[in-house]
Amino acid sequence: MYATRILAGLVTVVAAAGLLGDVSPVGGTLSAKQVAVQEVKRSEKLVTLGDLTANQNHRLAAIRQAARQQILTQTKAKRSQVAEVYRMALPTKFTVQAGLTKQGVRLNLAANTFGLSEIVIPYQQLKGKILNHYLPKAQRTTKQNQSKVIALTFDDGPDSKLTPKLLKILKRNNVHATFFEVGQSVTKYPQISRAVLRAGNELGNHSWNHPDFATIGTKKTVSQINRTNAAIYQATGQLPEYVRPPYGAITKAEGVAIEQPIIRWSIDSKDWSYLNKAKDIKAVVGAARSGGIILMHDVHAQSVAAVPSIIRQLKAKGYRFVTVSQLLNNQTLPGLQYFERGDSRTAGK
Ligand code: ZN
Repeated sequence: MYATRILAGLVTVVAAAGLLGDVSPVGGTLSAKQVAVQEVKRSEKLVTLGDLTANQNHRLAAIRQAARQQILTQTKAKRSQVAEVYRMALPTKFTVQAGLTKQGVRLNLAANTFGLSEIVIPYQQLKGKILNHYLPKAQRTTKQNQSKVIALTFDDGPDSKLTPKLLKILKRNNVHATFFEVGQSVTKYPQISRAVLRAGNELGNHSWNHPDFATIGTKKTVSQINRTNAAIYQATGQLPEYVRPPYGAITKAEGVAIEQPIIRWSIDSKDWSYLNKAKDIKAVVGAARSGGIILMHDVHAQSVAAVPSIIRQLKAKGYRFVTVSQLLNNQTLPGLQYFERGDSRTAGK
């Protein structure tokens, strides 16, 4: 359902551009400043959040996730304000209206401590989240790539020595990976988290100090996640897109509450149990499959030492290494967990 929002003073400009149909001219004289403000807003298409999401809660949660990042970016918020962005009320109803502007999706905001009455979320941040046909062509997701790809993921870092060592190995091999980091270590080594991202890798949330979410309850889980989001935001200027729960354990209620896509794995190196380079290599190469997500840990020297051989052997078998978002074609939504390409399940399953 579309409606066209018409702003006073722009009628002539917009009508001249042929964008409006039935228009009633609006009287009054506007200052140059008012006109400038309105030109920024200009005419936009009004839609409901239900339109943008096909009334899917997972997609609506993804819009809230993108809104939080936009609010922080736009206001250059401090770490201490990240908690506030998770506390503030963001739209939960499909009937709420949003504007499709040239730059992105405009959302009105309820009163908040950031002093914003509205935000415009760039379309790029909504790729794979809202329905494709509301996005500019360049931001639409295309058919899932079925080529022989695999994603390396590393948990429990950053480690002061091993993570930088691993980054060098990845760079030398022209491979990008996804790192799920622990908040308390990010706070200790923010420069390493920055280096992870700067090298073209992805960075996700692996809790504050590695508890078993399934046993601590929703409130503590949300606190673990948001505290780590704040640490990653402070270190890198970005909220992480993904969460990987320690031990892969998370309840359905927790999965819904954290409002971030959950990334699991399909190829478990069990490197923590072997602490043995040869066994790590054998476990990963032996279980490799196209579209798979490999779980390793960059806090064990043997695991990092195994990476060059793993890369070499899998490349020889025709695999291309990609990040998690590349593997999943950016089509990841909060409240769902992703095990590998083509395998997503509701949180808690
Ligand atoms: Zn872990």
